[in-house]
Amino acid sequence: MCDFLSLATVGVRKLQPYQAGKPIEELERELGISNIIKLASNENPLGPSPKILQALKEFCTPQNVALYPDGSGFSLKKSIANQYNIPQEMITLGNGSNDLLELIARAFVTSNLAVMFSQYAFAVYPIVTQAIGAEMQIVPAKNWGHDLEEMLKHITEKTRVIFIANPNNPTGTWLSKNNLESFLNQVSKNIIVVLDEAYIEYIENPEFPNSLEWLETYPNIIITRTFSKAYGLASLRVGYSISNPQIADLLNRVRQPFNVNSFALKAAEIALSDKDHLKQAVALNKQGMQQFENAFQNMKLDYISSVGNFITVDVKRNGGKIYQLLLKEGVIVRPVGNYGMPTFLRISIGLPEENTRCIQALEKVLK
Ligand SMILES: *Cc1c(COP(=O)(O)O)cnc(C)c1O
Repeated sequence: MCDFLSLATVGVRKLQPYQAGKPIEELERELGISNIIKLASNENPLGPSPKILQALKEFCTPQNVALYPDGSGFSLKKSIANQYNIPQEMITLGNGSNDLLELIARAFVTSNLAVMFSQYAFAVYPIVTQAIGAEMQIVPAKNWGHDLEEMLKHITEKTRVIFIANPNNPTGTWLSKNNLESFLNQVSKNIIVVLDEAYIEYIENPEFPNSLEWLETYPNIIITRTFSKAYGLASLRVGYSISNPQIADLLNRVRQPFNVNSFALKAAEIALSDKDHLKQAVALNKQGMQQFENAFQNMKLDYISSVGNFITVDVKRNGGKIYQLLLKEGVIVRPVGNYGMPTFLRISIGLPEENTRCIQALEKVLK
């Protein structure tokens, strides 16, 4: 037999596949239990706007299923452009914002260049970097978050892209307007800085940057956002980037011609228009976050203060084992040992009753 491993590119040979949150059906199959809750992948526990579900039912016609989607995503791009008052030429749509992270790496990075990101940063950054065989410049974190000063020091001539998740997943830490602005001032305009804002809709703090205001001053930034989290459309796969039109044009050249399907395009457009549903999701998240913080304080567990829709807690034991014990209770959370945080669990904020069940299960297994 052929040794296919030796045929793979060097980067791919070393690659660890992305570990996704366990699907409910899988746990049902494995343990034969029902009534499982999943608080593992930062999805919206409310689901999408009911207006979307209604519209998709009507949209589900033989023609709409059989025909290719609008490859340009014209209508959705127009809605996003209107929402933020930016030209449509700045927008690139992706099959989730994940798609965009990959397109950015493919459009700008080759194996002789480097991609920088922080320790504990989102797990997709090493994947898209290694897939190309480029060097990873992983900068030690400070208090679980990005250490921008340190990142500046690590920049070399090879650095082509810097990924910054704001807020970061899995730590929920965030960077203020002032800190990030001072960083951007010191980074060469020849380096692409990606501001991954997958959780932006949840944030109410006035110190949090409105990165859209920076697009003119820093034409080297790419802002990525998604409909998977606060908008509740994770399964449909749709995200977007906002950047200088020249960058958008480059990303557009490497993407699949039909990277976003018709249902996702339709749903995302309605999602943007239903402000009430978004508000409800944000309020529910705030309440749930409080629920977990209170519980962790009562349980004397340290947690990382988070502005996302998830919270990462130190269970002070092997997180993988606690995760397994929680599975038996029908509660799926996310161990983060693969992020170098072996005693932590990341828990997505759910509905109040789901949070209660998760907290009770955690109390039980930690006894
Ligand atoms: C969830 C997440 C994404 C992307 O999700 P998509 O479903 O691909 O849009 C991107 N970045 C971070 C930091 C995330 O947590």
